[in-house]
Amino acid sequence: MLTCQSLWRDCVDCFSNKVSSETFQRWFEPIRLETFENNVLTLAVPHNFFLEWFEEHYGNLIIDIVRHNFPANTDVKYIIYTEQPVISVSSEKITKKVKNNKFSHFIEANFDDPENISGLNPSYTFDNFIVAGNSTNSIAKKVSMSVAEKPFNNAFNPVFIYGGVGLGKTHLLNAIGNDIRNKFPELNVFYMQTTVFMDRFINNIASRNSPEFRQFYCSADVVLLDDIQFLNGRHGTQDILFHIFNTLYQNHKQIVFTCDRPTKNLRQMGGMQDRLISRFVSGTSVGLFPPNLETRMAILKSKLTAEKRDIDPIVIEYIAERVDSNVRELEGVMSTALANTLYQDNVDISCVQKIIDNIVANDSEVDRISYAVAEFFNLTIEDIVGKSRQKDIALARHIAMYLANTYTKCTLQKIGALIGGRDHSTVKHAIDNIRNLISTDPDMRKKVSMFEKNLSYDKKNKK
Ligand code: ADP
Ligand code: MG
Repeated sequence: MLTCQSLWRDCVDCFSNKVSSETFQRWFEPIRLETFENNVLTLAVPHNFFLEWFEEHYGNLIIDIVRHNFPANTDVKYIIYTEQPVISVSSEKITKKVKNNKFSHFIEANFDDPENISGLNPSYTFDNFIVAGNSTNSIAKKVSMSVAEKPFNNAFNPVFIYGGVGLGKTHLLNAIGNDIRNKFPELNVFYMQTTVFMDRFINNIASRNSPEFRQFYCSADVVLLDDIQFLNGRHGTQDILFHIFNTLYQNHKQIVFTCDRPTKNLRQMGGMQDRLISRFVSGTSVGLFPPNLETRMAILKSKLTAEKRDIDPIVIEYIAERVDSNVRELEGVMSTALANTLYQDNVDISCVQKIIDNIVANDSEVDRISYAVAEFFNLTIEDIVGKSRQKDIALARHIAMYLANTYTKCTLQKIGALIGGRDHSTVKHAIDNIRNLISTDPDMRKKVSMFEKNLSYDKKNKK
């Protein structure tokens, strides 16, 4: 075994020369030599997904290098190793922690329910996160499940899950947390919306408690931070998150972020620190994309089964075919259809179409309008959906809202949500303003009709 150890060390040296140090650290360091018997070299790896990925990307390299250092007819076999979690000093059971540990004052001051500081929603699990067939989202689910299988010294740390609205980021993040809490109840798992993290940070600064804030989150074993795009421009919170991240990472604690866009687009937001973005990209990035038809059908059927309800299969198919960009809307259409069955015998296709018209916003059309308006006024899309009250930006935003209201089926509420998270009265005010200007200002009339022409809208398109 001694010689075999030294031969293996030679192999490891060769690997480190062939791949980048980051790849080496992530994919080669976790591998352990188990045995070398009958010309079979057995290597142990952390988990199944690691194995799948590793074999696909580096299987041939390993064979080449092993056969170069060991006898040329050596075969390589893999097994999965098990390891007990490294439990942090502060990871007593949460209830115990609340009663007698040093954070009890902090917890009481910061949590509505001190008995439930994990913040997890128990109804989001891996079992009810559906991916059908070999869809792209299955990678995101597999990575998440691997993290939950071994939330310490993980090859995927940190994980960055990105994807548009309603595609399951919050669901998957909670599923990771719930699964970890079931498997390792002694670990401290914290799930949070980024806005909650920001608010807590600000409250603690106000009460001169920021060291405790930092120590508290540094005591976590797993941090799940949802929607980190809201950190944009919040430099104080970014600083503290950066320090917390470094401490957790150095201690091999698991961190998972979600975001509404991939990391490369975070830079374009203009208010995110490079050093933080580089931490986000240092681990594994996985995307969630609009589910394929098969998955949409499976989600609808699973929801019906969970609620012990039934609906005409043709109607299910109709919904799945048409509501294709957002699972939240898919669920909304189905729930409304189910509610309709309570006072209407037959929920047929025409009834479902009306529900779809009311619920499903044509997001991409609103986005197209916002981009066109931004481009014309030499602004960025962030200006249009941002908070600036600068006169020219506000006017461009009003025009985008007016066009969205005139030419898409979106409600005022939906337009407000898509153009910067504003409420419906703000949108109404914007539309009134532009209507007013159109009737009084020939220049505005010209601008609006130019947009209509460029976006290929004519009077027939009007709602
Ligand atoms: P996001 O955080 O990306 O905006 P959510 O996680 O809140 O989206 O998902 C919106 C809704 O859609 C939730 O009710 C969630 O349970 C459901 N959902 C999303 N993706 C799936 C999926 N693959 N399987 C089952 N339900 C899903
Ligand atoms: Mg979410």
